[in-house]
Amino acid sequence: MSAGAHVQLLYLVATGLFILSLRWMSDPATARRGVFSGVAAMALAVAGTLAGVAGGHGGHYGWILLAFALGSMLGYPLAQVPLTAVPQRTALSHAFGGLAAGLVGTAKFFLYHGQGSREALTPFIVVAIAAEILLGFLTFTGSLMAAGKLQEVKWIPQRPVTYPGQNVVNLGLLVLALALGVALVLDPLAPWAPAAFLAMIALSLAFGVLMIIPIGGADMPTVISILNAYAGLSAVAMGFVLNNKLLITAGALDGSSGLILSIIMCKAMNRSFANVLFGAFGQAVPAAAAHEARNYKPDTAESAAQLMAEAGLVVIVPGYGMAVAQAQHRVRELYDQLKKRGVRVKFAIHPVAGRMPGHMNVLLAEAEIPYDDLVEMDDINGEMPQADVALIIGANDVVNPAARTDPGSPIYGMPIIDADRARTIYAIKRSKNPGFAGIENELYYLDKTFMLFGDAKAVVGELAKQLAGESGMH
Ligand code: NAP
Repeated sequence: MSAGAHVQLLYLVATGLFILSLRWMSDPATARRGVFSGVAAMALAVAGTLAGVAGGHGGHYGWILLAFALGSMLGYPLAQVPLTAVPQRTALSHAFGGLAAGLVGTAKFFLYHGQGSREALTPFIVVAIAAEILLGFLTFTGSLMAAGKLQEVKWIPQRPVTYPGQNVVNLGLLVLALALGVALVLDPLAPWAPAAFLAMIALSLAFGVLMIIPIGGADMPTVISILNAYAGLSAVAMGFVLNNKLLITAGALDGSSGLILSIIMCKAMNRSFANVLFGAFGQAVPAAAAHEARNYKPDTAESAAQLMAEAGLVVIVPGYGMAVAQAQHRVRELYDQLKKRGVRVKFAIHPVAGRMPGHMNVLLAEAEIPYDDLVEMDDINGEMPQADVALIIGANDVVNPAARTDPGSPIYGMPIIDADRARTIYAIKRSKNPGFAGIENELYYLDKTFMLFGDAKAVVGELAKQLAGESGMH
């Protein structure tokens, strides 16, 4: 077998492992195996590519090692971020992926242009290069903006920034960039081609920024997933430019999984792609004056624990606040205490609770809560009227009944966990602040709702302690 054939074989195995990785990651029982096979696939891909370099231009290892060292220096701290920061960390990865694709496309174009090579700059290759730099560079700036918005970087406004004619301006930029791309395909060796190429890069970079500013912070996780799809597609284009089959297949897997994930998120929020991308969701919602006079009913952990101890069914609804407080291990203690007393306990999992799909599942799995007691939204809602207690731990938007009842609400139509249909509701949060969508929640004002104010970890710990029969509240 020739050296080239060995590399292709490695690529084939890597592709198979990437596919298995996605397959395995879709089930908690096999997810760990999925992660390992993804890592193994990437290691094989890198090994195959390095072997290919050795076959061709062996003298470049120094540069590769330097890039490897720089990449590791950036990658290591990125791997240390807390779970709640994973969406913005992921956006940064997409930004680097987009930048890499854009730079490779740029290098290839100027290399071939410099050589005056018509054979290299075939219409097909120029189309691939144009797609690569357009998607790559807009993913780069778009992802940086998205990460900045999620991280709440001061100089990037969280709220959507809109102005009249915005969509026309954005569309105009895109059309201009595409027109330049078409001109380059028609005459890639023209004397104006390098200038047109650089203009196309500038337009793509600007488009990435302008595309993100009208989108509110609340929609960023969905946008990041869409950018993931763009980064994948730019990798596909790069695969065609470099004639690398693994890049084509891995990019296609990346692109399609990003797209599927964004569709899942849009469905869970009852929104369309167009609405996410152009809807300026999360613009300041006028505060409802009628709500100001009303009060929450605070209660103590002691009486909440008492009621739960006598309950037949307790449904726990975790949300972003549980993740912020890292309360999952206390939740496990509470679960154990309730189980010990013969109470049935179920966890109601909303598909977009927290800040990324599967966020609650990961945290509860970390605390080793049996997976069978995690119930998807559609399955638990039928049981909510039988729940004696709904215990809401740092969830807000995903239990907001306005989604069902108030056609004027920005979240109207979003499927929710019907916590309001439980007999009694206890809600744990620190203050009267709204959730991610920035809107009031009627649920907290119901006659049967009681607030347990405080940090989720402390309050759930106290509930578990009360149930364990230990005295003293702090
Ligand atoms: P949420 O609406 O953001 O509400 C979280 C609540 O937790 C807040 O009201 C906050 O109130 C409370 N909280 C924060 N820190 C806390 C702490 N340490 N202890 C106790 N409570 C704490 O969260 P959610 O109900 O999980 O809804 C998720 C939101 O993210 C939805 O709007 C969803 O559309 C959006 N989103 C999610 C995804 C995804 O993939 N998961 C994707 C796109 C968008 P206090 O400040 O008063 O404590």
